[in-house]
Amino acid sequence: MKKYWSELAKTLRPYEPGEQPQDREYLKLNTNENPFPPSGLVLDRIKESVSDSLRLYPDPNSNKLKGVIANYYKIEKENVFVGNGSDEVLAFSFLAFFENRTAISFPEITYSFYPVYCNIFQIEYRTFRLDYDFSIDIDEIYVNSGGIIFPNPNAPTGIYLEISEIEVILTRFPEIVVVIDEAYIDFGGVSCIELTKTYQNLLVVQTFSKSRSLAGLRVGFAIGHTSLIQALNTVKNSFNSYPLDSIATDGAIAAIEDKDYFSHCCRQIVESREFLMEELILLSFMVLPSKANFLFIKHEKMDAFMLFSKLKENGILVRHFRQPVVNEFLRVTVGKKEEMILLVKCIKLIFEAHHV
Ligand SMILES: *Cc1c(COP(=O)(O)O)cnc(C)c1O
Repeated sequence: MKKYWSELAKTLRPYEPGEQPQDREYLKLNTNENPFPPSGLVLDRIKESVSDSLRLYPDPNSNKLKGVIANYYKIEKENVFVGNGSDEVLAFSFLAFFENRTAISFPEITYSFYPVYCNIFQIEYRTFRLDYDFSIDIDEIYVNSGGIIFPNPNAPTGIYLEISEIEVILTRFPEIVVVIDEAYIDFGGVSCIELTKTYQNLLVVQTFSKSRSLAGLRVGFAIGHTSLIQALNTVKNSFNSYPLDSIATDGAIAAIEDKDYFSHCCRQIVESREFLMEELILLSFMVLPSKANFLFIKHEKMDAFMLFSKLKENGILVRHFRQPVVNEFLRVTVGKKEEMILLVKCIKLIFEAHHV
């Protein structure tokens, strides 16, 4: 019954996050969560944070966290925006930089939240074609774009675009904002944060959810020219003065401070990814080259949804998307090496049972 719904609410097509079923225990390789726990320093700080001071509002500008992020990336605090997960930072970016009159551009295969934001904020979009190997071809970007956004590495392909190519986009489109969603950058790519010092139209968005094992804490941030950051603050302060609670802020600060644990976990995941990739290639999978914490894979002899279902029956969850082209693939989150060994064993058994 939608009697009381606004016209806008009636037209919404919300994003569908990966399933989090509770019927049994699963090896979760479906939402790109980190297999390692948050750093001990983070957990200690969070415990300290649970105290009498919770009766107070947090700092509405999260100044301390911004300072720690700025220091880590060797930029100024005025170039940092923080939000309740990078999904919120992305939503604010759509409101702050994209107009409903001029269609924005993103790849035909990409993070499926972008069209959802376009839908709620009534922004038009046009998708551009990927190359035959699923890489981004910057010459395919529509010349009259009202804005550009894509993840680097792209999701769900995992394919990384060189910084030199991003620089070409920035010089080619100086009049519009280019948002680079670096949710997976810490797994082997090079961040383009450095380019924000040269290009005023670049906004880089990152998250603590994937590489810092804090998906449950909801912290994301953006880095860009002060004028872009001011626009984001203006939008944010028109929505919610306190998107980051004090517990999340204290945890996030500790996550940046514990550099050794962070690089250790990222290295392990990269090693595990290379291991899984070799094993899957031995099983004749087509595996796209990934610089993320997931692999996008396809097998000639077994339908992706069928393999998804068989894995689920065996207690392993991976992600299957229903849109054309990508429905031929599965996206598999890279876990610990022992989890990847288990996954490969399970695939081998499924293949044997189906004479693949
Ligand atoms: C996971 C993901 C995000 C969202 O991360 P949160 O910070 O948890 O909201 C943003 N962009 C892409 C491409 C992602 O895969």
